[in-house]
Amino acid sequence: MIISVASGKGGTGKTTIATNLALSLKQTQFIDCDVEEPNANIFFKAKIDERKDVTVEIPIIDDEKCDYCGKCSQFCTYNALAVVPSKVLVFPELCHSCRGCGLVCPKSAISWGKRSVGTIEHGVVDGVDFYHGLLHVGEIQTIPVIKALKKKIDKTKNVILDAPPGTSCPVIETVGISNYCILVTEPTPFGLHDLKLAVEVVKQLKIPFGVIINRDGVGDKKVEHFCQSEKITILLKIPHSTEIAHLYSKGIAFACELKEWDDEFKNLFHKIQEEIKK
Ligand code: SF4
Ligand code: SF4
Repeated sequence: MIISVASGKGGTGKTTIATNLALSLKQTQFIDCDVEEPNANIFFKAKIDERKDVTVEIPIIDDEKCDYCGKCSQFCTYNALAVVPSKVLVFPELCHSCRGCGLVCPKSAISWGKRSVGTIEHGVVDGVDFYHGLLHVGEIQTIPVIKALKKKIDKTKNVILDAPPGTSCPVIETVGISNYCILVTEPTPFGLHDLKLAVEVVKQLKIPFGVIINRDGVGDKKVEHFCQSEKITILLKIPHSTEIAHLYSKGIAFACELKEWDDEFKNLFHKIQEEIKK
């Protein structure tokens, strides 16, 4: 089973939930797909034993063959090519590697080179097969790194995907492959606003989902009322607790220290299995 953990909003405790669930279950695979800011390894502390470069294709123009007709730059919707009188300028950071310019070039003047956009890393800790992706500083193309991570999914295991925050393409790329999505929120007006957006996304993707309310007690009951009115299952509530916050600040997954929470996360997994059967 592949479970994604997402939240419409950053800072809700998404990674906390994902890491606690993985460490309670053990024998899982955990993939941190928040490649712009991966922080799950703060809790896992996995020793990295494998590292792989993630590259994308970029066009290389053969000046011998090119007659500067401009068809490639007219085609490129990402403005990654500009044709001036005696040169085709390539802006690699804007290229999405669609290969379309190569198809429309009448002179077959385009070949392909590689450009590194990030890395993926692997380690094993406490029975958890851990991966995360790291986008290079200044890069904007998260999708190739997430795709490289998804290729590592081991379907013989239960897999937990820590999705990026928000509701844009990287979230859809991550959540889209899962059998179930946990939406993590907090009981505040901001939490509710972004939860509504996230709910729309998972509904569009037709992925079964439920909600975990983190820091329960800090705000109001509007998130709960929303879930009740929309018939959304509230899987778990995690209280606003000094003890949990203290462990978090030390980079310790609280389920590893507090037995009752280890049990809660195991129960959460069984609850999700039941939800999927419904
Ligand atoms: S389409 Fe081909 S021939 Fe025309 S400008 Fe681009 S690379 Fe040169
Ligand atoms: S591969 Fe696609 S995105 Fe990249 S320059 Fe060519 S047309 Fe533009």
